[in-house]
Parts: sequence; C-alpha cells; structure tokens
Amino acid sequence: MIFTSKSPHTCEYCQQVTLDFGLSRDTVQFTCGVKEVVAADQARCNLFHAFIVSLEREIRLEELRSTNRNLEFSIRFEKENLPDFPADLVLTVNEIADDGARKNNVLGYSRLSLWTHEGNAATVDISTRPYELDPASPLSIEFSRRCIRSCQNDHEQCRRSIGDIMARQGPTLIDPNSIPSRLLRLVTKNSELFVQLIGRSSPSAIESETVSHEGFAILSYCWGGPQPIQLTRDTVDNLGNGIPVAQLPKSLRDAAWLTNEIGLKYLWIDALCIIQDNVEDKIHEISRMELYYGQSTVTICAASASRCSEGFILSRDEDVANYKFGPIKLRAKTSIGTFGSVQALAEFDYFNGRRPPEPIILRGWTLQEALLSRRILIFSSYHLYFTCTVANASCGGFEPVLKPRVMTTYQSRVANVHTISGLRDYPVTYVWRNLINDYTQRYLGVSTDKLPAVSALASSLIPMGRERNQKLVYLAGLMVDTSDPENYSWRNEFLWRVYQMRSTSRIPTGSPSWSWSSLNGRIITCSRYPFSSNWNIAEETEDIRLCEYGVELENKIAPFSAVKGGFVKIHARTKELSTIQGHNHKIATESNPTTVFEKTDYTTLVFVPDTEEGMYTIDRGNRGEQRVFLVELVPFYESGDTPTGLIVTDAEGTGRYTRVGIFEYQHPEDNRNAEEMALRKVLFGGSNLEHVHIV
Ligand SMILES: [Zn+2]
Ligand SMILES: [Zn+2]
Repeated sequence: MIFTSKSPHTCEYCQQVTLDFGLSRDTVQFTCGVKEVVAADQARCNLFHAFIVSLEREIRLEELRSTNRNLEFSIRFEKENLPDFPADLVLTVNEIADDGARKNNVLGYSRLSLWTHEGNAATVDISTRPYELDPASPLSIEFSRRCIRSCQNDHEQCRRSIGDIMARQGPTLIDPNSIPSRLLRLVTKNSELFVQLIGRSSPSAIESETVSHEGFAILSYCWGGPQPIQLTRDTVDNLGNGIPVAQLPKSLRDAAWLTNEIGLKYLWIDALCIIQDNVEDKIHEISRMELYYGQSTVTICAASASRCSEGFILSRDEDVANYKFGPIKLRAKTSIGTFGSVQALAEFDYFNGRRPPEPIILRGWTLQEALLSRRILIFSSYHLYFTCTVANASCGGFEPVLKPRVMTTYQSRVANVHTISGLRDYPVTYVWRNLINDYTQRYLGVSTDKLPAVSALASSLIPMGRERNQKLVYLAGLMVDTSDPENYSWRNEFLWRVYQMRSTSRIPTGSPSWSWSSLNGRIITCSRYPFSSNWNIAEETEDIRLCEYGVELENKIAPFSAVKGGFVKIHARTKELSTIQGHNHKIATESNPTTVFEKTDYTTLVFVPDTEEGMYTIDRGNRGEQRVFLVELVPFYESGDTPTGLIVTDAEGTGRYTRVGIFEYQHPEDNRNAEEMALRKVLFGGSNLEHVHIV
C-alpha cells in the first residue's frame, strides 16, 4: 500500500493514539503491550509496524508472537527547543520487570518525523509541512524570498565573496566592481514579460547604483546542445531592444519568470550575456565569472533539467519511494486545546545520497558555478532547496527555515551542488584535488573548455592559500604548493592516475602531458604523500625536487585558463624500463579502488598507463624497442607502495620527455619478505640524480 501526504495511512489501531502537545516534552503519550502491537501489525498498521521493525535486531516477529516477555511499547513526543524546528515521535520498547517497573534496557527505538498541512489546527505546534511539489506556487516563491532575505540579513559570512577581504557592505549591497558587463533587465509590458540586454555593446548602459542596491540573479543550468537564441554579433541589437521571455528556451524562460517573482529585476545568463561568436569577449567574461557567481544575489540552479529546452519550474510527483514509514495520520490535541491532526513518517534517504545524480552535476561548467556561489536555490528532481555558505533549508520537509550546517555533516541536500564554504577547513591543495576527482567525471561539450571551465574556481583558491601563507602555483590544472622547499606534497599533484585507461583519450588542449587536463576521462588524484609525520621525509627525499616549471598561457589576461604548453624539470633518478630485472610486473588498465587495492601474494611493480597508446608504449619499453623510463618521485619506504613516480618516454631525442603513466608497487599487507623488500629498495640503485625535463 502506498501512502502519500494527501492520502496518509490511517486505521483503527493508530486512531487510538492521540498526541497531546499540551503535555511536556518527553512525556509518554501512549503505551501498550505485545498483544496489541502484534495484532495491529497483522492488520497492517503502519505505525505499529515501526515498533516491530525497531525490535528486529532483538526479537523477530515470530518470537514476539509466542513470547512471554513483558514488554512495554511507548510513544513520546520530542521537539527541538528552537521555534520553527521539527518535532519527532520517539517509539521505544522496554522490558518490564516483575514488579511492573520499566527496565532500563531499550530493546527497540525508532524516530518518526511529524508534519501537518497548512490550515490544520495542529499548525500552532507543528511548523513543518509536507514537501512542496510545485515550484511555481506562492509557497515556493515565498520560501525563496524568505531564504534570500534571512541569509542577507543574518549571515555575515554570506555577504563576502570568496577571497574578498571587504567585509560588511550592508545586507544586500553588491560590490559595484563585480557587476557583470552585461545583464538582462526584466521588463513587463502589457502584462507580458520581456528580457532586454543592457550593458557593454548594447544601447542601454547598466545602472550600476541600482543594480548594486537591488542585486541580480544568475542561472546555472545545462545547455544540452546548441541554444536557439544566443548573444552574437548579429543578435546584439535584437536583444538590446528586448524580446518576449516566451521566445526563450524553457529553462531560460523559467529563470526569467522566477527572478521576476522573487522581486529581482536583473538576471545573468551565459548564453545571452556573453557574445558567443567573439573569442575575446568570451575570455574576458569567463575570467570574471568568479565575481558574477560570487556576488550575485542568488544562483538559480536548474538541477533537474538536462537541456535548456526542458525547464525546471515543473510540478514534481511526491517521492513515495522515499517513505520508509507513513505518512501516518494521527490525531492531535494542540497546546491551546483545539483538535487537529499530524502525519508521522520516516524517510529512507533524508540526505538524498542514494538518489540518481541530478543532470546538472554531470556537466563540467556547473561545478564552479555552484562552488563560487554564496546562495543557491536548487530545483532538484524532487524538491526545492536553498543552500548558502552557512545554512540549508527545504521548501516543505524538515528544514523549513535556514538551519545552520553542522560541521562534517552534509553540504546541501542535493549531492555535489553546494557552495565552497564547507571545504574551507581543509588544505587548499587537498580541496583542489578532490574537486578534480569530481570535475573529470563531468561532461564538457567542448573539450578545449577543460581548463577554462574551472579557471574561476582555481583563481578563487589562490587567495585562500595566500591567507594560509601558502605559495600556490597553478600549472595547467595542477595546484602546486611551492612555499616550503621541504614540502613534498607537490608529488601528489603529479601522481594522478586515470580511472579507466580504455575510456581515456588525449585531447588537443595544448596542456602538457603531466597535467590531467591533457586527457579526456575520469582522473583519480593522489593524496598520500607524505605518509605520516614520523616518516623522515627530509632525510629520505632531500634530493628529489621540483626545480623549474612554467606554462605558456593561451591568453595572458586569463592566467588560470587554457595553455599552449608547459614544462617541469624534476631533479630525480630514472631507470630505463628494459633494464629492470627480477621483478614481477603488470600493467593496470583500471584504477578502480577494488582492483588497485586487491590483495596480492607477492610484490608487484605496477604500471598504470594514461591511455591505451601509453600501454603500447610501456610494452615496447619493456621489450627494449622504445626508450621508456621510470622517474622516481617518492623513494623506497618500507610500508609504502614505493618507490613510485612517473613513466615517461623521450620525445625523439630532444632530451625532453612526455608522461605516459605512473608506476607504484603493490605488495601483500605486512610484507616481511626480505628478498622482495630488497628488490623494491634497489630499483633505482646505481642511477644518478639528473634533471628530468617533462613537457
Ligand atoms: Zn494504523
Ligand atoms: Zn547565508
């Protein structure tokens, strides 16, 4: 039987329960014995079934039927002390002693959340409502406005853009320097909504002061192919005169409508605010995206739409598959003595971690759009959520008002759509590597966008590192910390590996071979070195250094964007592949964790090629048909998978090498085999340190 908030479960058994909100918190509201619970469960009562499930670890239903144990099933009501916060029903099962006293051991425990419909008498005590399923409803609009307003007024952290040292600017004011070069102004003529392009290269200038005071919205969405209306040299005039919103693809139309409804007059959408057939304009605007997303009043995230024609202001179906129990209708007596009803329920997946990914997180560009934002309205496939740098809320459900995030819980209720704030507590290089793991799983319509689509993000992290006295150098997608000559973490940047060799290919981005941005395919970054503080790094690795590095930028005004090439010179020892003797070795074509960390019986030298072509190169290197070398980045360390480093081949006798993969060791856990240990130890024995120039 499927229950919804419109047709909740109800039956003669649960109708015996009347919750009294006049009673103090934690007062037992209802009790019964084994017989009643078993009978109610048999009659398929959803509420009493929750008792049985909570007991499952201790007593199964069959045992319960025949048991002589004296059990007490009780229901309490709990409410967080703050106003507007959720209330729960707590179901417990206790054993009763012969003298009738309740024993302390709790045999079963289960929690159900409560909500009630608008207009019900119980609303005086219960502030939570069923999830709102229509994102165009007055309730959704009011939710959006309220979240933005309380974030503006109450969250000082959210008034700052990332890396911005300018603190308080007043609750709503936007830094005039961050106002986009162009905006869409929303104008209503004869009750029809129009968008009109204003700003650079259009007839109407941007009224900076007005925009600074009133703010603007920005859209994050999937194009999903070419768009029918774009800003080009040919359409500037037409858009400058204003076009009816009805002519736009549905997602853009929805964004314009919503912006207008929440009381904003200006909107930024990439397709209509960047001249798509003007390379200089694109480079200029992409380099300013950090400001646009960081300073906009709100980011509208069209999470559920995989293409711009789909739209995101669409009625949702109630997500009944997510109800573990309920909704169960229960009678309630309110604290002011009136009678109403509430619904009790439990969700399987409150944090939405098990739901299929939203289309928006499959696209490359949207990663930085969310991370750089300070406030996001997320239109997911199920519900409407709000997230900002410190708090979350849901439209309906159990976060009716902005609820401050607790450290280490979750970023937002939609996986991989959140601001960067929660990551600020981690080292910048670590954050960056983790973002790259996510980013390289996403799709890019144009492969040369590989570096541009995360350029604003990279540029925003540099000042964050500077605040922590780190000297970060951005090398074609690698965030290298050069502040401490004895900081060996730079190896992590170079020791990325591909997830699946066969689905990875080189792309003509101009990126050097040692950067993941030279490849199309999922990357797994490395965060292993140094292993631990007791590893005497300085002593072990003092001679392995990153000596020189550099990239040639595609465009000087975009230092975090595409490159035409790059090099590194690493002071390290090398070993030609064909001269390695006595080792077990294998080529790993996959890096998925289960195969990488598989148990082995003996020590193996593992080659992880970047591409299929790389695999053939390694094969030829093994046979001595091509000069292929191992470059030692991390030297032998007893308990590690070391030595480890890069596999390179020399570029036609130029003295410069190109990367084809990485190597490492796999060995049985707790390996005490002295012979195998010795093999690892002497891999680079006899090799001299040299400057290895890799492009
Ligand atoms: Zn029932
Ligand atoms: Zn906020």
